[in-house]
Amino acid sequence: EELYGVNRWSSGYFSIGDNGNIHVSANHRRPDVKIDLKEVIDEMVAEGIQFPAVIRFHDVLRSQVEILNETFRDTIQQASYQGKYVGVYPVKVNQMREVVEEIIDAGEPYNYGLEAGSKPELMAAMAYNENPEALTVLNGYKDEDYLTLALLGRRLGRKMIVVVEKFSELEMLVALAQKLNIEPMIGLRSKMMVKSQGKWASSSGERAKFGLSIAEILNAIDYLKKHDMLHCAKLLHYHIGSQISDIRKIKEAVTEGARLYAKLVQMGVPMEYLDIGGGLGVDYDGTSSTTDSSRNYSTEEYIADVVYGVKQICELEGVPHPNLVSESGRAITAYHSMVVTNVVGEIKPGGTEFDISPTEGEHVLVSNMRELIGDDKTHPQERYNDAASFKESAYEAFKLGVVDLPEIAKIDVMYWQILTDIHHSLDRDSFVIQELEALENTLASQYLGNFSVFQSAADTWAIGQLLPIVPITRLDEKPSVRASIADITCDSDGKISKFIEGTQVSENIPLHPLRKDEPYHIGMFLTGAYQDVMGDMHNLFGRLTEVHIFAHDEEPGDFYIEEIVPGNSAARVLETMQYNTDYMAKVVKKAVDQQIRKGGLAPREGVRWTDFYEKCLDGSTYLRT
Ligand code: PLP
Repeated sequence: EELYGVNRWSSGYFSIGDNGNIHVSANHRRPDVKIDLKEVIDEMVAEGIQFPAVIRFHDVLRSQVEILNETFRDTIQQASYQGKYVGVYPVKVNQMREVVEEIIDAGEPYNYGLEAGSKPELMAAMAYNENPEALTVLNGYKDEDYLTLALLGRRLGRKMIVVVEKFSELEMLVALAQKLNIEPMIGLRSKMMVKSQGKWASSSGERAKFGLSIAEILNAIDYLKKHDMLHCAKLLHYHIGSQISDIRKIKEAVTEGARLYAKLVQMGVPMEYLDIGGGLGVDYDGTSSTTDSSRNYSTEEYIADVVYGVKQICELEGVPHPNLVSESGRAITAYHSMVVTNVVGEIKPGGTEFDISPTEGEHVLVSNMRELIGDDKTHPQERYNDAASFKESAYEAFKLGVVDLPEIAKIDVMYWQILTDIHHSLDRDSFVIQELEALENTLASQYLGNFSVFQSAADTWAIGQLLPIVPITRLDEKPSVRASIADITCDSDGKISKFIEGTQVSENIPLHPLRKDEPYHIGMFLTGAYQDVMGDMHNLFGRLTEVHIFAHDEEPGDFYIEEIVPGNSAARVLETMQYNTDYMAKVVKKAVDQQIRKGGLAPREGVRWTDFYEKCLDGSTYLRT
């Protein structure tokens, strides 16, 4: 638990059981009820599911919706805050229908709504958020169709709020609303002065892509007044970026947003809602700090700062407390899904067996290198320097044709053996020279995971996001191999080399030695926000098979697979790239037939080859194991 930091990043949802397997406490109301992840994997295998696969814990998703809404509700009560909390889930964070459906269902008692940022997201929101009491907040840039859909929503009696991102949208909306004679609900997004930090800091500040400056907000109010629509201005919105790791930025934004809200109300704008956007962070690295992959606050603290912060400013300014809206996506979805991959091999520097015994007349560099083996009298640094220099000279000599191929192979094998010896002889507690310390990384293995970083963990590649990675089993056994994880794409960027080790971030982590004929499953956790849906098809590796797990209410610890969503077949991904797979199969069949006619293939064998090609088209894009 300490080594992989499970207790620190899992928010109580994951732990290591006495049997050395990862356990899942999917329901926050019953933390003692645990599902053994190994049992889930065994059932998946029994169902014939191939890895990699996504596992979704729908109970975790529901728990997160309940925690957010109930904490807001309780804090509002404790603070005697006069407004309500009517949050929305931003569809863009995970647009999967099953995810949106589950969130809407779990959020129904709290009138929890949806946020959309594009036309397709709005269309999904119209169909899945039918609750007339819940909000649908519409962000993103809009055209006439987008705005007309929003007005259709108003006709259907929905609380659809069009958040104006730029002034021209307001002009378009007012014109359309008057033409169609439908009263819109309007939100104004403020650019905000507070400069947030982290990877999404550009969401606020004067150069932000979205939102209105103070001058534009005042012009918008004048414009609405002029068109007799000021009463439609219902909401003030801001969003200073995702994954805000420092609570001080959140407090600053609340102060600025609440002050602006109060001033607008004082000016006679009949606002009712203050929307604080997203930004509630997830502690991916378990450090509870201000690193980009962490947060230095709890959900309770975040909510208390919002509720008490808005209350204080509104009371100072003498305006009623607004209803509070937040658009947390990451915190709602991150925990509920994970990727399980099977390790299909190990790439080990110097792991090759080769006969290094002396031969007559061998080059002196070969004999020199051999002398360094087992030479523990020489200082490790000197031994390392000598080995490195012999190896370098040997490669120069090889290029000049002086050292031959078997000799260079021996030099290589001996070099890695010497480095491994030096590494084992180092006394960890004493001062070690930096170069020697780096040996740990040089000698680390790479475990080859059957997955694509670009499909399943896009942010680790794109922005250096850290995701917790832990083996699913054997956690009662000392992991004795240091390794990073490489994927199966033909891209050297397709690897993960940022891990949590204790409280540190390391380039590799201790894992267990692979055993022949025993699968080794590794879990990549907290992939439910953005990662689930942002992946691309680099190398034509497609979407993963998904299983949706529910806990059995009556039988604690038991679970059932509610749904299996098959991953993309090779044909499916090829078709998205405009290939016609029927045509491809025909071409291959024609070529096989030609060979049969020429007598190069027996007809029976020819049929087998055509069938095989067609079977591979229907098969998974990942390695079949
Ligand atoms: N609202 C808006 C306008 C956003 O742009 C985003 C994402 O950056 C979110 C909400 C979701 O933010 P988070 O996932 O940090 O909760």
